[in-house]
Amino acid sequence: MAFLNGPRLLDWANSPPHLQFNKYVLTGYRPISSVQECIKSLFYLHNELGNIYTHGIPLLCFLVLLPLNIPWSQISVMWLGVVHFLACLSPQLGSVVYHLFMNHEGGEPIYKTLLTLDMCGICMINTLGALPIVYSTLLCYPFTRTVALLIYILLSSYAIYCAITARSRVRRLRSFAWQALFRFSFFLLRWIGVGGGSPTSLRHFLTMDALAVLGGVINITRIPERFRPGLFDYWCNSHQIMHVLVVVSILYLHWGVLDDLLWINTYHCPSD
Ligand SMILES: [Zn+2]
Repeated sequence: MAFLNGPRLLDWANSPPHLQFNKYVLTGYRPISSVQECIKSLFYLHNELGNIYTHGIPLLCFLVLLPLNIPWSQISVMWLGVVHFLACLSPQLGSVVYHLFMNHEGGEPIYKTLLTLDMCGICMINTLGALPIVYSTLLCYPFTRTVALLIYILLSSYAIYCAITARSRVRRLRSFAWQALFRFSFFLLRWIGVGGGSPTSLRHFLTMDALAVLGGVINITRIPERFRPGLFDYWCNSHQIMHVLVVVSILYLHWGVLDDLLWINTYHCPSD
């Protein structure tokens, strides 16, 4: 991907202070750049290139392939399909913009805005991504379903506020924890047989959350670069591993939601 000769890259100590968030990545920092220079950085090697492409390529693939893969004609609740599609795109969209422009000449204020955008992408998949799960779990309880959807949206709005105002990575991650708990309560309802949903989807959703948690832990613990600082500056560092795990986790969400959407179309509640 290194088509162009880029500018002289900086080491950790000489990079802008707001970009010094991983002391185990020693080299490959882009200098402060204009919008055009940031875009040009898509074509030469630097330490954010892997982060941009590990979410950029899946973003383009999802944009084209997901609408083709969703069986629209067999879905009875169309808005769930649309919400699911938007949920799958949102984390990569925020992430690509954040990683591409994080060294913008606007400095720390621009960096913080971009970080907020990245966080919003994660919040959006946590929020929108769970709506089809809540809907199908409570398919046969329309009133409870509406109340649960409203509560989840309201509480998610508060989680978004917490995530974008959090000062540390750990706090930021913690603000997503209750959303995960809410999801788990629905998984529990399915597991004990009270909640609805396709029999195959629960396994997909549990795999999804396990991969996302694993990605979060790897990102926070800075594994593997903490053991060999400098060796993973360009490729295979913790953040890139997390990006890949997030994409695989979204695929599991997609497979689970597809199963549920088709299940909704064929299932008849006992009271019907
Ligand atoms: Zn990222």
